Amino acid sequence: MSATGTGNGGGATAGPGGGAGLTASTRVLALLGDPVEHSLSPRMQNAAFRAAGVDGIYVALRCDDDDVEGLLRGLALAGGGGNVTIPHKERAAALVEEKTDAVRSTGACNTFWSEDGVVHGDNTDVVGFQRAAAKLVGSELADARILLVGAGGAARAAVVGLLEDGADEVIIVNRTPQRARAVASRAGDRRVRVVEGHDALEGESFDLAVNATSLGLGDDEPLPIPPDRLDGIGAVLDLVYGPGPTPLVEEARKRGMPAEDGVEMLVAQGVASFRRWWGTDPSLDAMRRGLGRTTEPAPSGSGAGDPGG
Ligand code: NAP
Repeated sequence: MSATGTGNGGGATAGPGGGAGLTASTRVLALLGDPVEHSLSPRMQNAAFRAAGVDGIYVALRCDDDDVEGLLRGLALAGGGGNVTIPHKERAAALVEEKTDAVRSTGACNTFWSEDGVVHGDNTDVVGFQRAAAKLVGSELADARILLVGAGGAARAAVVGLLEDGADEVIIVNRTPQRARAVASRAGDRRVRVVEGHDALEGESFDLAVNATSLGLGDDEPLPIPPDRLDGIGAVLDLVYGPGPTPLVEEARKRGMPAEDGVEMLVAQGVASFRRWWGTDPSLDAMRRGLGRTTEPAPSGSGAGDPGG
């Protein structure tokens, strides 16, 4: 499905894009969140816009809860759109008029645009997560036993993606167990279970562990999974990303385990968002170059291929 912005009438091949040569028909795509200053999406999307030759620019706008509705509707109906990040994804899900299944099942929206005067929303984190997980463990995700650490928006997208992909069991551990129970209850699936703390998992093994907490980049932060609990785990997918491998990824690789950070998920969700806005595929190389990552990770499973959503 492609976006059909009605305000500026921007098309998929109208101009130089990415901020070079802005015109009256340039479509404005914005990331709405708080904070947004450290987001890599503007670099990634503007690189993709330039490579595709589309007439658009992607910016990051820090905004308060009260301003989300005006910005989201205004940008979409003016022919643009954008992404939504912490802490506004739930609010965005309530605001968009036409929701994809991914928005309905997660209660969160990270991508918006308009078609024929109607504001649409998707949650491309779900497919982004699925692509990143498949790239790491391939078809082994079906019937797999997963340890999911965290219970925020990223964890909700991961649960939906894992269940859709046929995971056998998803065990959630979170600092605040009641939030984990809320995620499990929203999933409404007997394959999802909550455990209170890593100690309760002693001796258990998992095909894949996913870090969906925000732990990982701060100085003196503990690893989201205690190192002595990594022994029974087959592979690690850290949804957190930074300039290089996260401490969790480094620790897992030191132990010889396949492990990736959140860059592949970022790229794959960005691919799916780009398709919503422009109705065409972006260049993955351009996106990775925009992020400063010139190579794709070595596939560890059989599911290597186009990570696009
Ligand atoms: P969120 O809704 O704010 O949830 C944050 C999660 O982190 C909660 O489970 C929270 O636990 C936990 N947490 C925060 N501080 C902690 C601490 N000191 N100790 C233990 N747990 C802690 O955030 P989100 O949207 O789910 O995002 C989580 C992470 O995923 C972020 O780093 C984000 O950048 C990343 N992410 C990546 C992508 C991608 O494309 N790669 C997409 C989405 C998100 P409580 O419930 O106890 O507060």
